[in-house]
Amino acid sequence: MLAHVDMDAFYASVEALDRPELAGRPIIVGMGKRGVVSAASYEARAKGVRSAMPVFQARRLCPEGVFLPVRKERYGQMSKKVMQILKEFTPLVEQVSVDEAFLDLTGTSGLWGSAHETGAAIKARMRAQTGLVCSVGMAPVRFLAKIASDRDKPDGLTVVQDLEAFLKTVSLKEVPGVGKKAQAKLGQLGLRRLYDVRTLGQKRLEGLLGVYGRRLWELSQGIDPTPVSVEREVKSISHEVTLSEDSKDPDLLQRLLLGMSSKVARRARSGGVLGRTVTLKLKHSDHRQITRSHSLGEATDLAEEIYEAACKLLTSYSSEGPFRLIGVGLSNLKTPEQVQGWLLSDKGREKLKAVAKAEDELHKRFGSGVLKRAGEMAPLDRKQKVKHNEAE
Ligand SMILES: [Mg+2]
Repeated sequence: MLAHVDMDAFYASVEALDRPELAGRPIIVGMGKRGVVSAASYEARAKGVRSAMPVFQARRLCPEGVFLPVRKERYGQMSKKVMQILKEFTPLVEQVSVDEAFLDLTGTSGLWGSAHETGAAIKARMRAQTGLVCSVGMAPVRFLAKIASDRDKPDGLTVVQDLEAFLKTVSLKEVPGVGKKAQAKLGQLGLRRLYDVRTLGQKRLEGLLGVYGRRLWELSQGIDPTPVSVEREVKSISHEVTLSEDSKDPDLLQRLLLGMSSKVARRARSGGVLGRTVTLKLKHSDHRQITRSHSLGEATDLAEEIYEAACKLLTSYSSEGPFRLIGVGLSNLKTPEQVQGWLLSDKGREKLKAVAKAEDELHKRFGSGVLKRAGEMAPLDRKQKVKHNEAE
Protein backbone atom coordinates (compact mmCIF):
# COMPACT_ATOMS: atom_id res chain seq x y z
CA MET A 1 0.00 0.00 0.00
CA LEU A 2 1.22 3.51 -0.86
CA ALA A 3 0.23 6.73 0.82
CA HIS A 4 0.21 10.29 -0.40
CA VAL A 5 0.35 12.83 2.41
CA ASP A 6 -0.44 16.45 1.66
CA MET A 7 -0.45 19.18 4.30
CA ASP A 8 -3.58 21.33 4.21
CA ALA A 9 -3.04 25.00 3.28
CA PHE A 10 0.51 24.54 4.53
CA TYR A 11 1.94 28.09 4.59
CA ALA A 12 -1.27 29.57 5.94
CA SER A 13 -1.56 26.82 8.56
CA VAL A 14 1.99 27.44 9.78
CA GLU A 15 1.15 31.14 10.13
CA ALA A 16 -1.99 30.30 12.10
CA LEU A 17 0.07 28.01 14.31
CA ASP A 18 2.61 30.74 15.06
CA ARG A 19 -0.07 33.37 15.67
CA PRO A 20 -2.91 31.70 17.56
CA GLU A 21 -4.74 35.02 17.71
CA LEU A 22 -5.44 34.63 13.98
CA ALA A 23 -7.28 31.32 14.39
CA GLY A 24 -10.44 31.19 12.34
CA ARG A 25 -9.62 34.32 10.35
CA PRO A 26 -8.97 34.25 6.60
CA ILE A 27 -5.19 34.12 6.27
CA ILE A 28 -3.56 34.90 2.96
CA VAL A 29 0.17 34.44 2.50
CA GLY A 30 1.47 36.79 -0.15
CA MET A 31 1.77 40.56 -0.10
CA GLY A 32 2.66 43.53 -2.20
CA LYS A 33 0.79 45.32 -4.95
CA ARG A 34 2.20 43.14 -7.66
CA GLY A 35 2.51 39.95 -5.62
CA VAL A 36 0.60 36.72 -5.97
CA VAL A 37 -1.07 34.58 -3.33
CA SER A 38 1.25 31.78 -2.16
CA ALA A 39 -1.30 30.15 0.10
CA ALA A 40 -4.75 30.79 1.49
CA SER A 41 -6.43 29.33 4.57
CA TYR A 42 -9.72 27.55 4.07
CA GLU A 43 -11.53 30.57 5.50
CA ALA A 44 -10.00 32.66 2.71
CA ARG A 45 -10.73 29.99 0.11
CA ALA A 46 -14.37 30.16 1.12
CA LYS A 47 -14.28 33.74 -0.20
CA GLY A 48 -12.89 32.58 -3.50
CA VAL A 49 -9.22 33.28 -2.83
CA ARG A 50 -6.90 30.82 -4.55
CA SER A 51 -3.14 30.42 -4.68
CA ALA A 52 -1.37 32.00 -7.67
CA MET A 53 -4.08 34.68 -7.77
CA PRO A 54 -2.82 38.31 -7.85
CA VAL A 55 -2.87 39.82 -4.36
CA PHE A 56 -4.97 42.81 -5.46
CA GLN A 57 -7.68 40.43 -6.65
CA ALA A 58 -7.56 38.54 -3.34
CA ARG A 59 -7.96 41.84 -1.48
CA ARG A 60 -11.03 42.62 -3.50
CA LEU A 61 -12.58 39.21 -2.79
CA CYS A 62 -11.59 39.18 0.86
CA PRO A 63 -11.02 42.68 2.25
CA GLU A 64 -11.15 41.37 5.83
CA GLY A 65 -8.29 38.95 5.06
CA VAL A 66 -5.05 38.92 7.04
CA PHE A 67 -2.31 39.36 4.46
CA LEU A 68 1.10 38.11 5.56
CA PRO A 69 4.55 37.99 3.97
CA VAL A 70 6.02 34.68 2.82
CA ARG A 71 8.43 33.20 5.41
CA LYS A 72 10.20 30.51 3.43
CA GLU A 73 12.70 29.55 6.16
CA ARG A 74 9.98 28.95 8.71
CA TYR A 75 8.02 26.74 6.30
CA GLY A 76 11.24 24.89 5.52
CA GLN A 77 11.74 24.20 9.22
CA MET A 78 8.23 22.82 9.57
CA SER A 79 8.62 20.83 6.38
CA LYS A 80 11.65 19.06 7.87
CA LYS A 81 9.64 18.18 10.95
CA VAL A 82 6.78 16.89 8.81
CA MET A 83 9.10 14.66 6.78
CA GLN A 84 10.76 13.35 9.93
CA ILE A 85 7.40 12.25 11.27
CA LEU A 86 6.58 10.48 8.00
CA LYS A 87 9.90 8.65 8.16
CA GLU A 88 8.81 7.14 11.48
CA PHE A 89 6.24 5.18 9.49
CA THR A 90 8.56 3.91 6.76
CA PRO A 91 12.05 4.76 5.54
CA LEU A 92 10.65 4.87 2.00
CA VAL A 93 9.49 8.47 1.92
CA GLU A 94 9.71 10.43 -1.31
CA GLN A 95 9.29 14.12 -0.70
CA VAL A 96 7.75 15.71 -3.78
CA SER A 97 7.38 19.26 -2.54
CA VAL A 98 7.72 21.26 0.65
CA ASP A 99 4.46 19.84 2.04
CA GLU A 100 3.83 16.64 0.12
CA ALA A 101 5.27 13.13 0.13
CA PHE A 102 4.64 9.61 -1.04
CA LEU A 103 5.18 6.73 1.38
CA ASP A 104 5.69 3.11 0.45
CA LEU A 105 4.10 1.23 3.33
CA THR A 106 4.59 -2.23 1.91
CA GLY A 107 5.16 -4.71 4.72
CA THR A 108 4.29 -2.32 7.54
CA SER A 109 0.78 -3.62 8.31
CA GLY A 110 2.18 -5.63 11.23
CA LEU A 111 3.33 -2.33 12.73
CA TRP A 112 0.54 0.06 11.84
CA GLY A 113 -2.44 -2.13 11.06
CA SER A 114 -4.81 -1.78 8.10
CA ALA A 115 -4.51 0.95 5.48
CA HIS A 116 -7.21 2.92 7.24
CA GLU A 117 -5.55 2.54 10.63
CA THR A 118 -2.17 3.55 9.19
CA GLY A 119 -3.61 6.65 7.52
CA ALA A 120 -5.38 7.64 10.73
CA ALA A 121 -2.17 7.11 12.72
CA ILE A 122 -0.20 9.36 10.36
CA LYS A 123 -2.78 12.10 10.70
CA ALA A 124 -2.97 11.79 14.48
CA ARG A 125 0.79 11.88 14.93
CA MET A 126 1.12 14.83 12.58
CA ARG A 127 -1.43 16.82 14.51
CA ALA A 128 0.01 15.89 17.92
CA GLN A 129 3.62 16.65 17.04
CA THR A 130 3.29 19.65 14.73
CA GLY A 131 -0.18 21.03 15.37
CA LEU A 132 -0.81 20.83 11.63
CA VAL A 133 -3.52 19.06 9.69
CA CYS A 134 -2.92 16.92 6.61
CA SER A 135 -4.91 14.90 4.11
CA VAL A 136 -3.94 11.33 3.33
CA GLY A 137 -4.73 9.11 0.38
CA MET A 138 -4.01 5.38 0.52
CA ALA A 139 -3.95 3.24 -2.63
CA PRO A 140 -2.06 0.34 -4.16
CA VAL A 141 -0.68 2.58 -6.92
CA ARG A 142 0.93 5.98 -6.86
CA PHE A 143 -1.35 8.14 -9.00
CA LEU A 144 -4.45 6.93 -7.18
CA ALA A 145 -2.91 7.70 -3.78
CA LYS A 146 -2.37 11.25 -5.01
CA ILE A 147 -5.92 11.56 -6.31
CA ALA A 148 -7.30 10.04 -3.10
CA SER A 149 -5.48 12.54 -0.84
CA ASP A 150 -7.17 15.34 -2.74
CA ARG A 151 -10.68 13.93 -2.43
CA ASP A 152 -11.63 14.94 1.07
CA LYS A 153 -9.53 18.01 1.84
CA PRO A 154 -8.96 19.40 4.41
CA ASP A 155 -8.34 16.81 7.10
CA GLY A 156 -9.23 14.00 4.72
CA LEU A 157 -8.49 10.30 4.76
CA THR A 158 -9.44 8.36 1.64
CA VAL A 159 -8.56 4.70 1.31
CA VAL A 160 -8.82 3.03 -2.07
CA GLN A 161 -9.91 -0.50 -1.18
CA ASP A 162 -11.67 -1.56 -4.35
CA LEU A 163 -9.51 -0.45 -7.27
CA GLU A 164 -12.14 -0.97 -9.98
CA ALA A 165 -14.84 0.82 -8.05
CA PHE A 166 -12.58 3.79 -7.32
CA LEU A 167 -11.37 4.03 -10.93
CA LYS A 168 -14.98 4.55 -12.02
CA THR A 169 -15.13 7.69 -9.87
CA VAL A 170 -11.97 9.34 -11.26
CA SER A 171 -12.56 12.18 -13.68
CA LEU A 172 -9.96 12.90 -16.34
CA LYS A 173 -9.13 16.29 -14.94
CA GLU A 174 -8.00 14.67 -11.71
CA VAL A 175 -5.43 12.56 -13.51
CA PRO A 176 -1.88 13.93 -13.33
CA GLY A 177 -0.61 14.71 -16.82
CA VAL A 178 -4.00 15.24 -18.44
CA GLY A 179 -3.81 18.92 -19.33
CA LYS A 180 -6.47 21.22 -20.72
CA LYS A 181 -5.63 20.22 -24.30
CA ALA A 182 -5.92 16.49 -23.68
CA GLN A 183 -9.12 17.07 -21.72
CA ALA A 184 -10.58 18.97 -24.68
CA LYS A 185 -9.57 16.29 -27.18
CA LEU A 186 -11.05 13.52 -25.07
CA GLY A 187 -14.07 15.66 -24.22
CA GLN A 188 -14.93 15.97 -27.90
CA LEU A 189 -15.27 12.21 -27.96
CA GLY A 190 -17.59 12.37 -24.98
CA LEU A 191 -14.97 11.08 -22.56
CA ARG A 192 -15.01 12.69 -19.12
CA ARG A 193 -13.91 9.94 -16.76
CA LEU A 194 -10.68 7.99 -16.69
CA TYR A 195 -12.67 4.80 -16.92
CA ASP A 196 -14.22 5.96 -20.22
CA VAL A 197 -10.93 5.88 -22.11
CA ARG A 198 -10.99 2.10 -21.92
CA THR A 199 -13.72 2.13 -24.56
CA LEU A 200 -11.36 3.92 -26.93
CA GLY A 201 -8.70 1.22 -26.89
CA GLN A 202 -4.96 1.64 -26.55
CA LYS A 203 -4.23 2.19 -30.26
CA ARG A 204 -6.63 5.08 -30.68
CA LEU A 205 -5.47 6.66 -27.43
CA GLU A 206 -1.89 6.56 -28.64
CA GLY A 207 -2.94 8.01 -31.97
CA LEU A 208 -4.69 10.82 -30.13
CA LEU A 209 -2.17 11.64 -27.41
CA GLY A 210 1.11 10.11 -28.52
CA VAL A 211 3.37 8.59 -25.88
CA TYR A 212 1.11 9.84 -23.13
CA GLY A 213 -1.74 7.83 -24.66
CA ARG A 214 -0.04 4.65 -23.61
CA ARG A 215 0.47 5.90 -20.08
CA LEU A 216 -3.16 7.01 -19.87
CA TRP A 217 -4.28 3.62 -21.11
CA GLU A 218 -2.34 1.97 -18.31
CA LEU A 219 -3.72 4.38 -15.74
CA SER A 220 -7.26 3.58 -16.88
CA GLN A 221 -6.50 -0.04 -16.00
CA GLY A 222 -5.24 1.04 -12.59
CA ILE A 223 -1.65 0.32 -13.61
CA ASP A 224 1.04 2.78 -12.52
CA PRO A 225 4.54 1.35 -12.47
CA THR A 226 6.07 4.54 -10.98
CA PRO A 227 7.62 3.49 -7.68
CA VAL A 228 8.04 5.55 -4.54
CA SER A 229 11.71 6.34 -4.84
CA VAL A 230 13.91 7.84 -2.19
CA GLU A 231 16.68 8.67 -4.66
CA ARG A 232 14.50 11.05 -6.51
CA GLU A 233 14.59 13.36 -3.51
CA VAL A 234 17.76 14.94 -4.84
CA LYS A 235 17.01 16.24 -8.30
CA SER A 236 20.27 17.93 -9.11
CA ILE A 237 23.69 18.70 -7.74
CA SER A 238 25.25 22.03 -8.56
CA HIS A 239 27.99 24.39 -7.65
CA GLU A 240 28.46 28.01 -8.60
CA VAL A 241 30.81 30.87 -7.93
CA THR A 242 30.27 34.59 -7.91
CA LEU A 243 33.28 36.52 -9.21
CA SER A 244 34.35 39.58 -7.29
CA GLU A 245 34.99 41.21 -10.65
CA ASP A 246 33.18 40.31 -13.87
CA SER A 247 35.35 38.31 -16.23
CA LYS A 248 35.49 37.14 -19.82
CA ASP A 249 38.85 35.42 -19.47
CA PRO A 250 38.33 31.92 -20.95
CA ASP A 251 41.25 30.49 -18.95
CA LEU A 252 39.83 31.67 -15.68
CA LEU A 253 36.31 30.54 -16.54
CA GLN A 254 37.51 27.09 -17.59
CA ARG A 255 39.62 26.71 -14.48
CA LEU A 256 36.59 27.52 -12.38
CA LEU A 257 34.56 25.00 -14.35
CA LEU A 258 37.13 22.32 -13.63
CA GLY A 259 37.11 23.00 -9.90
CA MET A 260 33.33 23.02 -9.76
CA SER A 261 33.00 19.92 -11.93
CA SER A 262 35.18 17.96 -9.56
CA LYS A 263 33.15 19.16 -6.57
CA VAL A 264 29.89 18.22 -8.26
CA ALA A 265 31.30 14.82 -9.25
CA ARG A 266 32.48 14.14 -5.73
CA ARG A 267 29.11 15.00 -4.28
CA ALA A 268 27.42 12.72 -6.82
CA ARG A 269 29.72 9.85 -5.85
CA SER A 270 29.23 10.36 -2.15
CA GLY A 271 25.47 10.40 -2.72
CA GLY A 272 25.66 7.25 -4.83
CA VAL A 273 24.12 8.82 -7.92
CA LEU A 274 25.05 9.47 -11.55
CA GLY A 275 23.68 12.19 -13.77
CA ARG A 276 23.09 12.45 -17.48
CA THR A 277 22.45 16.15 -17.90
CA VAL A 278 25.16 18.76 -17.42
CA THR A 279 24.04 22.35 -17.08
CA LEU A 280 26.10 25.49 -17.38
CA LYS A 281 24.82 28.58 -15.65
CA LEU A 282 26.08 32.06 -16.47
CA LYS A 283 25.11 35.43 -15.17
CA HIS A 284 25.99 38.43 -17.31
CA SER A 285 27.19 41.74 -15.89
CA ASP A 286 23.65 43.08 -16.21
CA HIS A 287 22.38 40.16 -14.05
CA ARG A 288 20.79 38.48 -17.03
CA GLN A 289 21.01 34.78 -16.26
CA ILE A 290 21.12 31.92 -18.74
CA THR A 291 21.45 28.17 -18.50
CA ARG A 292 22.51 25.76 -21.22
CA SER A 293 22.23 22.00 -20.88
CA HIS A 294 23.69 19.01 -22.58
CA SER A 295 22.64 15.40 -22.12
CA LEU A 296 25.42 12.85 -22.18
CA GLY A 297 25.17 9.46 -23.86
CA GLU A 298 25.67 7.83 -20.50
CA ALA A 299 25.14 8.99 -16.93
CA THR A 300 28.32 9.97 -15.14
CA ASP A 301 29.83 10.83 -11.77
CA LEU A 302 33.24 11.71 -13.20
CA ALA A 303 34.70 15.21 -13.06
CA GLU A 304 36.37 14.94 -16.48
CA GLU A 305 33.14 14.14 -18.27
CA ILE A 306 31.19 16.85 -16.52
CA TYR A 307 33.98 19.35 -17.17
CA GLU A 308 34.19 18.47 -20.86
CA ALA A 309 30.48 18.96 -21.36
CA ALA A 310 30.48 22.23 -19.38
CA CYS A 311 33.41 23.57 -21.44
CA LYS A 312 31.65 22.75 -24.69
CA LEU A 313 28.58 24.58 -23.46
CA LEU A 314 30.71 27.59 -22.54
CA THR A 315 32.54 27.78 -25.87
CA SER A 316 29.36 27.32 -27.88
CA TYR A 317 27.49 30.01 -25.96
CA SER A 318 26.85 32.98 -28.22
CA SER A 319 28.23 35.64 -25.89
CA GLU A 320 31.74 35.73 -24.52
CA GLY A 321 30.86 37.73 -21.46
CA PRO A 322 31.85 39.32 -19.22
CA PHE A 323 30.14 37.22 -16.60
CA ARG A 324 29.63 37.79 -12.89
CA LEU A 325 28.66 34.22 -11.97
CA ILE A 326 29.39 30.82 -13.37
CA GLY A 327 28.02 27.45 -12.27
CA VAL A 328 27.85 23.77 -13.16
CA GLY A 329 25.01 21.40 -12.43
CA LEU A 330 24.37 17.71 -12.84
CA SER A 331 20.79 16.48 -13.09
CA ASN A 332 18.67 13.66 -14.46
CA LEU A 333 20.11 11.66 -11.57
CA LYS A 334 19.96 7.91 -11.30
CA THR A 335 21.33 5.20 -9.09
CA PRO A 336 23.87 2.82 -10.66
CA GLU A 337 21.18 0.11 -10.70
CA GLN A 338 19.05 2.32 -12.90
CA VAL A 339 21.85 3.04 -15.35
CA GLN A 340 21.89 0.77 -18.36
CA GLY A 341 25.25 -0.35 -19.65
CA TRP A 342 27.05 0.81 -16.54
CA LEU A 343 29.03 -2.41 -16.40
CA LEU A 344 30.01 -2.18 -20.06
CA SER A 345 32.08 0.94 -19.62
CA ASP A 346 35.24 1.18 -21.65
CA LYS A 347 38.82 0.99 -20.44
CA GLY A 348 39.53 4.72 -20.37
CA ARG A 349 36.58 5.20 -18.17
CA GLU A 350 37.78 2.51 -15.79
CA LYS A 351 40.94 4.54 -15.31
CA LEU A 352 39.01 7.70 -14.55
CA LYS A 353 36.91 5.78 -12.09
CA ALA A 354 40.00 4.50 -10.32
CA VAL A 355 41.36 8.04 -10.06
CA ALA A 356 38.03 9.24 -8.71
CA LYS A 357 38.03 6.52 -6.10
CA ALA A 358 41.52 7.44 -4.94
CA GLU A 359 40.45 11.07 -4.83
CA ASP A 360 37.45 10.23 -2.66
CA GLU A 361 39.71 8.30 -0.28
CA LEU A 362 42.09 11.24 0.13
CA HIS A 363 39.18 13.59 0.52
CA LYS A 364 37.73 11.44 3.25
CA ARG A 365 41.03 11.30 5.12
CA PHE A 366 42.34 14.82 4.70
CA GLY A 367 39.36 17.01 3.88
CA SER A 368 38.51 19.16 0.92
CA GLY A 369 41.60 21.40 0.79
CA VAL A 370 44.14 18.71 0.09
CA LEU A 371 43.50 17.86 -3.52
CA LYS A 372 43.46 20.08 -6.54
CA ARG A 373 43.57 19.03 -10.13
CA ALA A 374 46.47 20.30 -12.24
CA GLY A 375 44.28 22.75 -14.11
CA GLU A 376 43.00 24.24 -10.91
CA MET A 377 46.51 24.88 -9.58
CA ALA A 378 47.20 27.90 -11.75
CA PRO A 379 46.86 30.89 -9.46
CA LEU A 380 43.72 32.91 -9.80
CA ASP A 381 44.04 36.52 -10.66
CA ARG A 382 45.03 38.21 -7.40
CA LYS A 383 42.09 40.53 -7.49
CA GLN A 384 39.71 37.71 -8.25
CA LYS A 385 38.12 36.37 -5.12
CA VAL A 386 35.34 33.92 -5.63
CA LYS A 387 32.39 33.08 -3.50
CA HIS A 388 31.34 29.47 -3.62
CA ASN A 389 27.84 28.27 -3.38
CA GLU A 390 26.48 24.78 -3.14
CA ALA A 391 22.98 23.91 -4.09
CA GLU A 392 20.87 20.85 -4.27
MG1 LIG B 1 -0.62 20.97 0.41
